[in-house]
Amino acid sequence: MRGTAAAPGIAVGPARVLEDLSAPVEERDIGPAGAAAEAERFQAALSRTREELIELQEATRRDLGEHEADIFSVQLMVLEDPLVVDRTVEAISTEHKNAEFLFCRHVKEVSDRLEGLADAFFADRAVDLLDVKRRVLRHLTGDRETALPGRPGILIGRELTPSEAVNLDPEVVLGIATELGGVTSHATIMARARGIPAVVGIRDLEKLAFSGDTVAVDGISGRVTVNPTRPMLEKLRHRRRAYARLQRQRARLAGQEACTRDGHRVVLAANMELPDELEFIRSRGAEGVGLFRTEFFFMRHQRMPTEDEQYEVYRGIVEGLPGFDTVIRVMDVGGDKFASYLGLPRERNPYLGMRGIRYLLAHPDTFRTQLRALLRAAVHGPVKILFPMLSSVDEFMAARAHVKAAAAALRRRGEKFDPRPSLGVMIEVPSAVLLAEEFARRADFLSIGSNDLIQYLLAIDRDHDTLGHLFQPLHPAVLRAIAKVVEAGHAHERWVAICGEMAGDPRALPLLLGFGIDRFSVSPSMVPEIKQAVRSVSFEDCRRLAADALECHSPHEVRSLVEERLGSEYSSLLKLAENGANGNGAG
Ligand code: PEP
Ligand code: MG
Repeated sequence: MRGTAAAPGIAVGPARVLEDLSAPVEERDIGPAGAAAEAERFQAALSRTREELIELQEATRRDLGEHEADIFSVQLMVLEDPLVVDRTVEAISTEHKNAEFLFCRHVKEVSDRLEGLADAFFADRAVDLLDVKRRVLRHLTGDRETALPGRPGILIGRELTPSEAVNLDPEVVLGIATELGGVTSHATIMARARGIPAVVGIRDLEKLAFSGDTVAVDGISGRVTVNPTRPMLEKLRHRRRAYARLQRQRARLAGQEACTRDGHRVVLAANMELPDELEFIRSRGAEGVGLFRTEFFFMRHQRMPTEDEQYEVYRGIVEGLPGFDTVIRVMDVGGDKFASYLGLPRERNPYLGMRGIRYLLAHPDTFRTQLRALLRAAVHGPVKILFPMLSSVDEFMAARAHVKAAAAALRRRGEKFDPRPSLGVMIEVPSAVLLAEEFARRADFLSIGSNDLIQYLLAIDRDHDTLGHLFQPLHPAVLRAIAKVVEAGHAHERWVAICGEMAGDPRALPLLLGFGIDRFSVSPSMVPEIKQAVRSVSFEDCRRLAADALECHSPHEVRSLVEERLGSEYSSLLKLAENGANGNGAG
């Protein structure tokens, strides 16, 4: 099956179908003698769930406010609901079946009824009910909250959500194949950061692969094979060895600078989603962290991390990469990134709603807690704070006022902190491109978030499974936008970075260099490849190429121009990267 190559590498193993794991729990007879103990086990799971919810509610009230904590009052009420709880207890004593099975049956009856009412209020209650069900089941079965596999294999599913992706363990999840998702989906980004080969956008995958099948995922060519024949397996093993060899060669560049043949130096940093990627980032020879997406770290928690917890994490990163800048983006939730305790609204167009800076400005306590932690961490090394999803200069001014307020609070407390950290603006909304000059005048640096910029500029959902071909980094409008942002930044002597997946696309790289991008931040798995690409081109050639590309009328024309202009050495590099992590990205 063909899909989109989403994270490079090749993996073969038994299929672990995501949906299988969340399938109805098994039905067991416990006999009349076991009923009392089973009822006790059920009550104990309810008590533990209750304690967990109360703890979450208190933390949410403290960090976010009363309104946001309300969701847990509703969930606590579900735990008292006689239609679910009393009936389960009664059924245990009359039917002598296991608690999980009876509990799920009663939850389903009630949720079916709620969903049938076609009213948003009741639909929300059904969601709360299912959330409570998951929590209770976790306490009954000891399972993890997500339905990720416990044994090594290839994860197969319709979709992997970002909150599931934060728990990916490369020792267990050897490869990923899903029906939905694109190159810039957050779950894909996570897979790439963890070095897990992935192919997404495979039509009808779930009808073709079942638990127990052997599945091969080729994240370089974008192919997935179910039950490969012996010769096919041999071929894959050969490809895997060749890829490993190539990676070893590239790894030798780790200590070298990201410098073009004619001496133009850029900074090549890595994107980070979770603090435990630090070692991987270091081993790839990245020059620090160019984007820490802190929301993933928040999503891994069951509640809002406190200021001290955040400070320790940020400090660990800063101290773990001495001599380099650490660019930390404040929490960018919304869109496809949620955590139940954040109380995000359900929206018709989440990517056009309560997202990024909008959420933070609407939740000043959360925002300032994070800013205080960042200002304290900045004492230990150069921390640069980045604001996501800005669409107006007012938002930057408001964000900066919160930084000042956070600093004032720390001063009152007598804490050590950096009173004047660098503040950067992510350019990921078309209005921010048009206002780039205004932002450059006020901020210390700009960072282009090409994933969202392309999504909003070309009006194409970055996660779209069937229209992925319209997500085109080489679209002339995208290139012109980037050139304009760099020009605006440089006019005010600000450095301009790019941290979306386009930065890790070797086909786009000569253009980005040519436009004058100063810093690149890419998935750690792409650092060696991009370093090799930078080192094999001449800046002067890239400048000419970029200028000519700005005159092109179509992505196709740009693509042909890039391929025609670059020498055979670079073309062979492109060939190796062809269908690689950003294979379809180059459009
Ligand atoms: C981007 O939009 O390009 C970006 C870097 O942010 P994210 O992918 O987290 O939305
Ligand atoms: Mg973004």
